[in-house]
Amino acid sequence: MRTATVIIGAGHAGLAMSCRLAELGIDHVVLERGEVANSWRTERWPSLRLLTPNWQTKLPSFPYDGADPDGFMSAGALAGLIRRYAGAIGAPVRTHTTVRAVGFHDDGYAVTTEQGTWTAPTVVVATGACNLPNVPPYADAVPASVSSITPMDYRGADDLPEGAALIVGAGATAVQLADEIHRSGRAVTLSVGEHVRLPRTYRGCDIFSWMESAGVLDERFDEVDDIVRARHVSSPQLLGSPDGRAVDLDALTDLGVRLVGRLAGIADGRARFSGSLANVCALADLKMHRLLNRLDEWAGSAGQERPERTRLPRDPALELDLTNGEIHTVVWATGFRPDYSWLDLPVLDRCGRIRHDGGVVTGVRGLYVLGLPLLRRRRSTFISGAVSDTRDIASLIWRDLSRRDCALTAVR
Ligand SMILES: Cc1cc2nc3c(=O)[nH]c(=O)nc-3n(C[C@H](O)[C@H](O)[C@H](O)COP(=O)(O)OP(=O)(O)OC[C@H]3O[C@@H](n4cnc5c(N)ncnc54)[C@H](O)[C@@H]3O)c2cc1C
Repeated sequence: MRTATVIIGAGHAGLAMSCRLAELGIDHVVLERGEVANSWRTERWPSLRLLTPNWQTKLPSFPYDGADPDGFMSAGALAGLIRRYAGAIGAPVRTHTTVRAVGFHDDGYAVTTEQGTWTAPTVVVATGACNLPNVPPYADAVPASVSSITPMDYRGADDLPEGAALIVGAGATAVQLADEIHRSGRAVTLSVGEHVRLPRTYRGCDIFSWMESAGVLDERFDEVDDIVRARHVSSPQLLGSPDGRAVDLDALTDLGVRLVGRLAGIADGRARFSGSLANVCALADLKMHRLLNRLDEWAGSAGQERPERTRLPRDPALELDLTNGEIHTVVWATGFRPDYSWLDLPVLDRCGRIRHDGGVVTGVRGLYVLGLPLLRRRRSTFISGAVSDTRDIASLIWRDLSRRDCALTAVR
């Protein structure tokens, strides 16, 4: 089967790309291994709510038009919205079509699936940034008596063994799970490394309204000082709860969660934590104030209310015995990574990440990637980033196909 563009993945990014290509009259197909919005249907925990407000969940030709713009959508509601979007734009999705390999073919690519092979001069990889949990190698040293899970396995606190949990990580997933697991009656120790602290609201408005208005989210990838580092910072410590509750480290301390430093390793059944808790918290506070200063500057006046410095435990533990029956579960909220094991092309770096320049894969022609953090702008990290990223990349594809003198339409 031949087409002009193969899009791999029918999450919001792949579908937004399909909408853009259809607008330009470019023939294409969207190949999806599961159902539309597979990640949100099968890989997220049921109580998850977006940390971005509903008004920001918009896609090309599909603004948010629900009744609760300032609310926070559940994973299930988002999956429903993405399914509706696929229907509204009439995306040519082939579900249950797992891509097993992508290799060079003539002047383009062959995309192999168990339903057949597609050839095309251009391919868009929209398989997501979060296919696999990013678990450190010393996770194998957790004693067998302790259950060890990732957020992809987590379905609710009630499914965990009774007893205390150690949660490793300090991004959005870690603090949300710490809050939920602690509220289920289990004692929680949270191992805190470098993190991003943001207030849920600032001067009476949601922090995302501020960042949107002040243009923070539109900062381009080539304007960011250290783009490699910026692409790897953890998600902000925010929760999208119906009551607008904060879940920063102070809120967790108030609940009774015990904070310790970054997990440095596990040996002989003992978890060892670094002594850097005060430093990483001070750094997160500093960066948060820098952002708030920028927002004040944009607003033309200084805000009165500022979050206090993160409160620290007096003597954070440096070790925890995982064999004495206290800890029953370790949750690895240590981030996610993409899976490109099916990509037979020389486009990955030593860490298995796609090398790209604003979504244009480097070193080859006609290959594009979407849905990665800070891909083209700060907002690329979030769902709304697909609106501008797909517009830009669709026009690059159109130029590429025009130069090759390819038939753009109806080659299916
Ligand atoms: C826990 C969590 C919470 C988040 N919260 C927010 C939030 O509050 N707000 C926000 O804006 N963003 C949030 N994000 C980030 C954002 O939603 C993700 O970046 C987004 O899911 C990426 O969309 P996507 O379409 O690129 O990828 P996905 O939604 O992951 O879609 C990729 C699709 O590709 C398919 N696929 C993968 N491999 C293959 C293959 N080999 N063959 C065929 N199909 C394949 C998958 O089945 C999937 O359907 C969150 C992410 C996570 C993990």
